[in-house]
This record gives sequence, structure tokens and C-alpha cells, in this order.
Amino acid sequence: MQESLQSCVFKNGWLGNLERQLFGRERSLDDPVEMRFGITTERFTARMKQRLPDAQWSGIITAMALRAFERKLVDGVVTLHRHTEQHFFSVPVLACSSEEIYESRGNKPVLSPVLRSLQTAYRQGLKKILVIGAACHLHMLRDFRERFPYLQEMEIFTIGIPCVDNMDRSRWTWVLERISASPSTARHMEFMQDFRIHIRHNDGSTEKIPYFSLPQELSDPAIFPKACMSCFDYLNSLSDITIGYLAAELTPQLDRQWVLVRTEKGRELLDLVNDELDRFPEWGEWKCDGFIRQTAGGIIEQMKDTGKTYAAEPLIPQWIGHLLSTAMGFIGPKGIGFAHYSADYHMIRHYYYVKYRLPDHLERLVPAHVPVILEEYGLPL
Ligand SMILES: Cc1cc2nc3c(=O)[nH]c(=O)nc-3n(C[C@H](O)[C@H](O)[C@H](O)COP(=O)(O)OP(=O)(O)OC[C@H]3O[C@@H](n4cnc5c(N)ncnc54)[C@H](O)[C@@H]3O)c2cc1C
Repeated sequence: MQESLQSCVFKNGWLGNLERQLFGRERSLDDPVEMRFGITTERFTARMKQRLPDAQWSGIITAMALRAFERKLVDGVVTLHRHTEQHFFSVPVLACSSEEIYESRGNKPVLSPVLRSLQTAYRQGLKKILVIGAACHLHMLRDFRERFPYLQEMEIFTIGIPCVDNMDRSRWTWVLERISASPSTARHMEFMQDFRIHIRHNDGSTEKIPYFSLPQELSDPAIFPKACMSCFDYLNSLSDITIGYLAAELTPQLDRQWVLVRTEKGRELLDLVNDELDRFPEWGEWKCDGFIRQTAGGIIEQMKDTGKTYAAEPLIPQWIGHLLSTAMGFIGPKGIGFAHYSADYHMIRHYYYVKYRLPDHLERLVPAHVPVILEEYGLPL
């Protein structure tokens, strides 16, 4: 508990010193790609040749964790299992067998105390572990290592997920009921590059909801955890390797993922599964500023704490929302352009959230590249 308070991102801010300690430097403010995606040694898109059933995408993370354990690179994996009663909820776990690691696959879209199992690993005397987590977990972990000698004796590998719009457990049911027509049968959910949320149900059907047709009350910034709305590391840049999907092509099989190798340890992890991957180069056009400029004014207004009440109805009916999503699929940013768009959209949203709603934290939380990007768009500090 004391460790968590001392190492909290709200106390220490995002990136900065921790990035310097890990890479020997902070990200370059002259490199537009590094400012968004963080420091990398290689980036590409990929899929498992043999998809892991029930993984979130093709299961690269779980395959990597399994191989790391089987080949004795690590003795245990600090990760999450599904809650036995609440499908989308998590339980922290120190997975020390192949079966336990396999069980950790799939997203649990709620705030999760992943690092609780670090203590278990330490008590059991494990010397080599893998931690799978979101950016907030990895910030805390890197800071723990600086402060607490007992962690410095452990060899720690990390896999990061990109993460945004995670939910507080107490809000989850309320949110899912407003997104899905059948919340009780929902088993898998993802915010997709086709500007729709895809929800897979237990009968195998997929429900698709255009972003433009979500109930207005779901755009109320107050429903998201403060910590997530103050996050400035969407792409988890302190992990050894980040595995997401943002810049990957959306194919009908929905299995392409995006891999960002950051450190030597990340390369070691990648080497474990290289033969099991089909690899593809990054694709798409980088430029997306027109789309950002169109939305920035609206985002900034929405972040002001005006006490506005949000309607339960969507602003746009679903059939028009689907037309808009389809149009955006044709004319909107794709591949690295979509990742660029999404990184900037959330960065702008979070900067103004903190500025208007948590102004005392602004200076401490905001990393150096953020004002540079805001200036690129001519947005006020
Ligand atoms: C709330 C949330 C938002 C996300 N947003 C994006 C996004 O905007 N863009 C993007 O590219 N990717 C995002 N991701 C990551 C993406 O959905 C996939 O998890 C990632 O691509 C890995 O797929 P996989 O098939 O390799 O994962 P799997 O092999 O299924 O493994 C997933 C791993 O993630 C762990 N995990 C699941 N939920 C959490 C959690 N809440 N906290 C910490 N660890 C967790 C699991 O325990 C498991 O170890 C998000 C994930 C979450 C949980």
C-alpha cells in the first residue's frame, strides 16, 4: 500500500525520468512519430499463424507469456484471470503453470490491481517474472524497482497493452447496458478501427454499434475514472514490448495486431514467438491533422466542467451512424494514420480534462511532448 502511494502516477507524473532511466533518454521532441508512439526499435503488424481461441485478438500476448514460461525465461507471470461470476471483471494472479497462463487471455475492461501479485512472487522467492499490464501498471512497476531493493533482485520482463477508456467496476454494468442490446450475453468487446464497437455474444453473433450513435451520456467525462482521463501514455511506452491493434489493418478475420518492440528484453520476448507469427509491415498514411482539427474544438468544450446534463438518447440514429462509420472507413485515417489520430485525440482530450478539472495536477502530470503536439495544432495551453 505504501509502495503504491509513493509510486503513483499522480504523485510522480507520466514518463519523464522513468523514460530516461529505461532508455537512457527521453523521447525526441523533434520526431513526430516517437512523440506519439514512444521509443521503439522496431514496429510491425502481425498475427498468430494459429490463433488462440478466446484471446482478445490473435493471442500474441498469451503465446509470448506461455513460451517465456515454457523456455524458463521466467518462473511466473503477473497477470489477470477472469472473475468466475462477472465475465468482464478480473482477478489478479501469479500464473505459475502453462494452464494458468493460458487462462489469462482476453481483455477485462475494468481497472485491475495487476501488481498485487508482485508481492506473491516476492514471497514465493521467484527470481524471474513477466508482468503484463497497462501503462499505469508499468509506470508503477518501474518506479517500485527504483525505490525498493527487493525488486531490483528480480529479473522482470514486461508486456504492455495500449489502454484507454478503462472502466471503474461500479460503472461497468451501467455502461454495458447502454451500449449493448443484450448485455447479459456479451462475451467480448472491442473499440474497432472501423469506427464501431464490436460486441461478440455467447451465441457467436456480433453486434456492431457506430461510435457516432452511442447514448450521449456515455460521452460525459465524469463517467470515466479520473486516472484514465489523466493518462498520457496510451501506448504503454515503458513496456519492453507493446502489443495492441491500433495501426493494424482491419481484415475480416479480425486478427491483425500491432507490435512495438522497445527494449532488448522486448526483442527477447518477440524472438520466442517469431516463428509462430505472420508478419506485415505497418501501413497507411501518417497524416491525419484535418480530422483532428475538425474534432478538437468539440473535445475541448466537452472537457470543461460546466455541470451539463447528458441525454440518454444518441444524437444520431444507428442507421445514419453506420453510414458515417462506413464513410469514415473510406475517407478516414487508416493504419499508422489511425494510430496517430487516436493517440492525438486522446492526448488532447486528457490535456484539457486535467487543465479544466484537475488544474493543480497539470504541471506534474503532463509530459514534455504534449505541449509540442498541442502547438502543432495551434491549440491553447
Ligand atoms: C481497457 C482496454 C483498452 C484497450 N484499448 C486499446 C486500444 O485503444 N488500442 C489498442 O491497440 N489496444 C487496446 N487494448 C489492448 C487490446 O485490446 C489487446 O489486449 C491487445 O491487442 C492484445 O491482444 P492479444 O490477443 O495478444 O491478447 P491476449 O493474448 O488475449 O492477452 C491479453 C492480456 O491482457 C491482459 N489484460 C486484460 N485486461 C487487462 C486490464 N484491464 N489491465 C491489465 N491487463 C489486462 C490479460 O490478462 C492478458 O494477459 C486495450 C485493452 C484493454 C484492457
